[in-house]
Amino acid sequence: MSEPEAAPPGSPDDIFDGLPYVRTPEGDTNWLEKSGFVVEPKAPFVEFSYMGRHKAPSIIEKGRIRVMKFLHAASKAMELGPDGEAMAADLLFRFIKGSGLINNERLRLTVLASIITAMWQRGIAVRADDVYRAYEVLGGRLSDRTDRKRLDRKLNALMMRMFSEAGARSDREGLKESAAQALAGELGLDDASAAVLVSLAKAINDKPINAAIVAAMIIAYISGRWGAARLWDVVWPPRSQRARIDGLTVVLGDGDHVDAEVEENTVKVVCSRCGSVVYSNADPESFPYVKGLVLYNLLSKAPHACPRCGARLGDGRRALVRAIGLRYHLLIYTSKGTRTEKKKAKVTLPKGATLQVRKR
Ligand SMILES: [Zn+2]
Repeated sequence: MSEPEAAPPGSPDDIFDGLPYVRTPEGDTNWLEKSGFVVEPKAPFVEFSYMGRHKAPSIIEKGRIRVMKFLHAASKAMELGPDGEAMAADLLFRFIKGSGLINNERLRLTVLASIITAMWQRGIAVRADDVYRAYEVLGGRLSDRTDRKRLDRKLNALMMRMFSEAGARSDREGLKESAAQALAGELGLDDASAAVLVSLAKAINDKPINAAIVAAMIIAYISGRWGAARLWDVVWPPRSQRARIDGLTVVLGDGDHVDAEVEENTVKVVCSRCGSVVYSNADPESFPYVKGLVLYNLLSKAPHACPRCGARLGDGRRALVRAIGLRYHLLIYTSKGTRTEKKKAKVTLPKGATLQVRKR
């Protein structure tokens, strides 16, 4: 190098295609080691400026590059995209400012917590599998369920700190919808059925991911899909099943009778044209045990047309869903013990909304 050149100004495009220091004028990938460039993390990118002396980067500079390398690797593994990576970088550097040397495990956790938090701020749900994969890409080891549980706990604790200390706020409505879409994909629903799931999730007044999961449980039950317990592991944070359905009313057809009144321990199908109850299972004794089966059979047992007014309710493959009402309770685990919260929700769907029903 005869004339000291100013380092190319950092840009999100540079950093997110890889670290900017690999772009050297001479094509020498080791130039940073030999040069006098100062590294500044100006999130979302690292800026390099030439100080005119050929010295190696300082420990602090190397540390910042290491942080960006970790973040970039995780961001690639989770397919974050430049904007998401930029937001995560901003959170990450603000959060670790003044922390001194961070060991690899701590850095892995902080990077992942920053990414999940940044995604939530943008209203995007993160899949649990993506988090586990990124953790392994960063050199972490997850050999069994116990390892994953430990990671879940550590990451959640760190995210709580990040939300309070870095003043992060999630986009709750966006997150609810994004989680509901992810779960619709997991259930293999077509677009029309996914729209029913998303509408139901939006109508549930609960924490965003809980609301999405409860909605997905209901749709899984009434469309005859696999066990609802697995839904709790799909979206971050993975948890044990903590909601129980206490009652469900489905209003079918394309009439105007949309009142989905729900009774405890009862599964009901109502005709939306005449309002008559087409099917009902109200057995408080057996409900907690048989409801899964009852719900599974709900729409295949319900007639395709209303026996009273003849309105079309579905064709055995698709149900014309007009409204859904539900009651459920949520188990809340706290340091003071477990408590139960009882909840209700109702949604009216536009005329013509349909839900795929799996034939037995
Ligand atoms: Zn009817």
